[in-house]
Amino acid sequence: MLRLVALFIAIFFLPSIASAAWQPELRIGLSSTASTFSIQCSLPAVLSDASNDQPIGMLGKDKPIAITINENKISVNGIMLNTAAIDIRPRVDSQLGEMITAVGDQKLSGGVRLVLSEGHFVLINLTTVEQYLRGVVPSEMPAGWHVEALKAQTIAARTFAMQNRKRHEAAGFDVCTTVHCQVFKGAEGAHENADKAIADTAGEVMVFKGALINAMFHTDSGGMTESTANVWGGDLPYLQSVEDYEMKTQPWEVKMTSDEFASKLNAASKGVGSVKSIKLSALEIGKGAGDRTPSGRVREITIVGSDREIKLSGEDMRSILGLPSTLFEVAINGGAIEISGYGRGHGVGMSQYGAKGFAERGKSYKEILNHYYKGIELKKIY
Ligand SMILES: [Zn+2]
Repeated sequence: MLRLVALFIAIFFLPSIASAAWQPELRIGLSSTASTFSIQCSLPAVLSDASNDQPIGMLGKDKPIAITINENKISVNGIMLNTAAIDIRPRVDSQLGEMITAVGDQKLSGGVRLVLSEGHFVLINLTTVEQYLRGVVPSEMPAGWHVEALKAQTIAARTFAMQNRKRHEAAGFDVCTTVHCQVFKGAEGAHENADKAIADTAGEVMVFKGALINAMFHTDSGGMTESTANVWGGDLPYLQSVEDYEMKTQPWEVKMTSDEFASKLNAASKGVGSVKSIKLSALEIGKGAGDRTPSGRVREITIVGSDREIKLSGEDMRSILGLPSTLFEVAINGGAIEISGYGRGHGVGMSQYGAKGFAERGKSYKEILNHYYKGIELKKIY
């Protein structure tokens, strides 16, 4: 296995010699605490010891096997194995992306790894990046959207997957299935529109000066995206603030009494007593100020209370109050706090609604990606 991994890495860094059949693999950690599985593969498969890649047995096509834990050992159809982790992969390794493995009533593309852990199994889906994307793209963007937007989303998701392999290495896999990495719904999450976007852009990723980029994306910028430096620090030349397809998109409003506001500040250990006034300059999208970033997002807001005065970052305000974005302004109206803003999400990288808007106006996925990620190149790496 180690030799195989080494080979994949060698090909990955030298894509020009990669054969057409080669595809990078991904280990997807599925949340599971089960201790018994019925497993069935759509192709003839091999069951092997995951620690040394030695084959232990063969699985017939569509023949279910029962895997359980017996005396803290893995038991397959009643036979106890002397290993703590097993792999099930197709007999012809290049068919990994074509095999469907049914684990109970869950259908997965590719094979699986089962790792014994404190009386249950950690279930890991072993598959190709392209099959992984089939379970991701329709979960991250509605599959009914314009195909050029779906292609842009696919390339952002593929670039993320390639750049974040080994993200959960300590747990023995690459990516998880939640928003922490990317939402993944397995073979059952696939949709034909997304499948077309994936097939039409197979192997294409975004690079900056030859290296995979950090392909951040968000729901809607509200009119202007944000540079990464203003959200997480650390400037990246390709994640800069750019104008979106339209201004003042996805307007929102959040209202609460000043007592409610004060108690939410208290709950976040940012209490000020009763709220007397709030200092924040007026919002103008694309115009910075001392307390706003150049895109207009809140950099810092000052809250004056009966006990003390505090300064909060826009991101702090967003998380304390559960606001959709940091592109907002605040008004105090009698005893009410009125917060109004635009957009949804952190605002960095591609705006998904923006990609949809540009696609509907005839822009290609290449134009869309080059708009949101400055100075990048698209590269087919396999
Ligand atoms: Zn994760």
